[in-house]
Amino acid sequence: MVKEFDLIERIRAAVSGARADVRLGIGDDAALCDLDSGRSLVVTTDTLNEGVHFSPGDAPFDLGHKSLAVSLSDLAAMGAEPAWALLNLSVPAVDDDWIRPFICGFSALLKAHDVQLVGGDTCRGPRSITWTLMGQVQGDRALTRSGAMPEDRIVVSGVPGRAGLALAHKRTGAELPASLSDALHRPDPRVALGQALLDVATAAIDLSDGLWADLGHLCRASGLGATIDADCLPVDEFLATLEPAKRIEHQLGGGDDYELCFTVGAAGERRLQALADRLGLPLTVIGRMTEQPGLRCRDTRGRVVAPPSTGFVHFKNEDDLP
Ligand code: ADP
Ligand code: MG
Repeated sequence: MVKEFDLIERIRAAVSGARADVRLGIGDDAALCDLDSGRSLVVTTDTLNEGVHFSPGDAPFDLGHKSLAVSLSDLAAMGAEPAWALLNLSVPAVDDDWIRPFICGFSALLKAHDVQLVGGDTCRGPRSITWTLMGQVQGDRALTRSGAMPEDRIVVSGVPGRAGLALAHKRTGAELPASLSDALHRPDPRVALGQALLDVATAAIDLSDGLWADLGHLCRASGLGATIDADCLPVDEFLATLEPAKRIEHQLGGGDDYELCFTVGAAGERRLQALADRLGLPLTVIGRMTEQPGLRCRDTRGRVVAPPSTGFVHFKNEDDLP
């Protein structure tokens, strides 16, 4: 088990909390708190630290965009309509050449999603960016990780694995084609898709740690397992050129895509094509949920495909825990 989740579990176990208005607390992409209006507040927060999530040389415009996109993606996974944001920012000094493009990077995305920045906090320290995003959803309608049923189809938006491939390219020092670079640095949070899925999907999660790891979270939350059909995983022109084993490693193991992975019953499956056409976004059935727990991946000839060396790990050793 990834140590990050052991730590979260320790914190969760130590705090009692039984407020009747907390519909969903720790454990999903965002929390759901009932409001008197009959709607629920959907709230999520994410931190990006220099040296962990980004490098000192990374373009500040991209960081502004991506740091916000990551949190919008969590709201998308709940089917929420984003509304308000808080930004907690630590920087070692006020460097105008960094701050200006950083602000440009997120302000365009705030505007695109009609989200207003309503506060935050600013400190001196190693560069660290924390967004708290709030949105709303009608009472009990939010998508969660826990609603999948046996035999539901598993669907992904876009082409998971592209961001990981871009990162691998970048590490070799190779020049990145613009469209691949955008997959890594300018993810487009699937907010419209999430809201459209409120009537369609039985469960949803966003892909931050890689399809294998994140579908694993959805399976555990739903008390089910999943079988992925390796030959159904979407490819783009770049993934298509890779050796099959390498391609699968990116498709199942690559993180940072911020696509949605969701499950649909037979009625939902019939609506996928119209939805994909309306949003101009590929939606691909990649497998199905099973009563049998655990994840499996097979090709169309039934051969087992080895799982990737899974998602991003924050705390590798017990000693790394604070
Ligand atoms: P995501 O990748 O979707 O942002 P995480 O894997 O970071 O989600 O977190 C999993 C769950 O644990 C979420 O519900 C999150 O709010 C919660 N969580 C993470 N860190 C803490 C913490 N320090 N205290 C309380 N809850 C936490
Ligand atoms: Mg998430």
